[in-house]
Amino acid sequence: MDKVKLRWRFLRRKLLINIATNREISERAVRESIKRISTTAPHLAIATMLVALSFLLFVNPATDTEQTWRNGIIFVNSLSSIGCVFSALISRRAIKKKYSLRFMNNFLNLVIAFVLITGLAITMIDQSVMTNLTPMMISITIVSTLYFQRPLRGIITFLVVYILFFLGMILLNVSPHILSSSLVNGMVITFVGCALTIVNWANFRRSELQERKILEQQAVLERMAYHDPLTKLPNRRFLDELIKNEVAKVRRGQTHSCLIVLDIDDFKLVNDTYGHPTGDEVLKEFVEVVDKLMRASDTFVRLGGEEFLILVPDSSLDATLIFADRLRQEVARHRFTANDDKITITISIGVASLNGVETSSDYYSNADRALYRAKNKGKNRIEVHREIS
Ligand code: GH3
Ligand code: MG
Ligand code: MG
Repeated sequence: MDKVKLRWRFLRRKLLINIATNREISERAVRESIKRISTTAPHLAIATMLVALSFLLFVNPATDTEQTWRNGIIFVNSLSSIGCVFSALISRRAIKKKYSLRFMNNFLNLVIAFVLITGLAITMIDQSVMTNLTPMMISITIVSTLYFQRPLRGIITFLVVYILFFLGMILLNVSPHILSSSLVNGMVITFVGCALTIVNWANFRRSELQERKILEQQAVLERMAYHDPLTKLPNRRFLDELIKNEVAKVRRGQTHSCLIVLDIDDFKLVNDTYGHPTGDEVLKEFVEVVDKLMRASDTFVRLGGEEFLILVPDSSLDATLIFADRLRQEVARHRFTANDDKITITISIGVASLNGVETSSDYYSNADRALYRAKNKGKNRIEVHREIS
């Protein structure tokens, strides 16, 4: 029973993740489609305007039917050209001003409907002089390859187009042979449109998921490169990059910042008594104890081994000393778990101000020297580096 429950929960979770992923991809698909509208609409505006102009200048109708056909083609293509210009302008503005997803979605639907109706209208007008279905084919190809639609949505869209085409052909009253041939050809075009939409969407989804995976892996690698796996604290490499900014700020006189270097006293004894794995647990607990006492703006770093550093920005040397002593006292008071025992540990601390001339290789050497003195003077104490002026 439990197994069934567990499996059901697993499937439900998978389904929810899938729905969430699809929704996110759909959002990206809409935005990407709007970008494509903004780049392709100007070309389509020129193309349709050229068609209208060619018909105006070079097509000389011999009959009334041809005259109506010519005027119809000119009218619809001119309208389409104007529509494309507006689409280009609106899509560019929507991208630039970061319009809402809802707006983008509605706009995309409008553009798709506009392209398909234009193609259908020209195809219907053409039927008075020829059995040509090319305009409908072009509009379906544009919609299925240039814009990204989820498969079901694409299929429903093209089904509606086919139904309209079907009704139009019946109403036009063309000869039975032409009617059946056109209806079959129209169906093939619609199917091709559906297939292209599905392939287009599958490619888009795949590349989106790949991109997401790469970003996730990048984040993991970055985390690994800049964090210590045992304590999850940032490491020295992380601090090396951060410190340049802090030193520059101090140099410009924008702030006064300090460094606290701390080292656990006689930690080797903990390892020797309880074993290295227990030593690891004590280190983690130590980090938790210190972390609780820090301000959000402080940066707590593991330099290596049982040696840590805290960058205390925007703080005077005296205030930092008070803070450092609180750390020392809290650590000394805490009972750490070592297997079945509760043990105490102490830390020695070196404190120094940043003076604004540190380089990335020596920025904590003053604090480190102070720490060395603290160790030599008996441990569990603080020593401070003071500039000799
Ligand atoms: P001192 O008071 O002079 O600092 O003495 P100490 O024993 O703390 O310092 P020492 O440099 O002699 O030894 C550091 C010890 O810290 C030895 C080493 O095994 C231990 N250590 C360093 N990194 C880790 C770690 O990641 N896990 C564990 N369990 N121990 C570690
Ligand atoms: Mg030590
Ligand atoms: Mg050490």
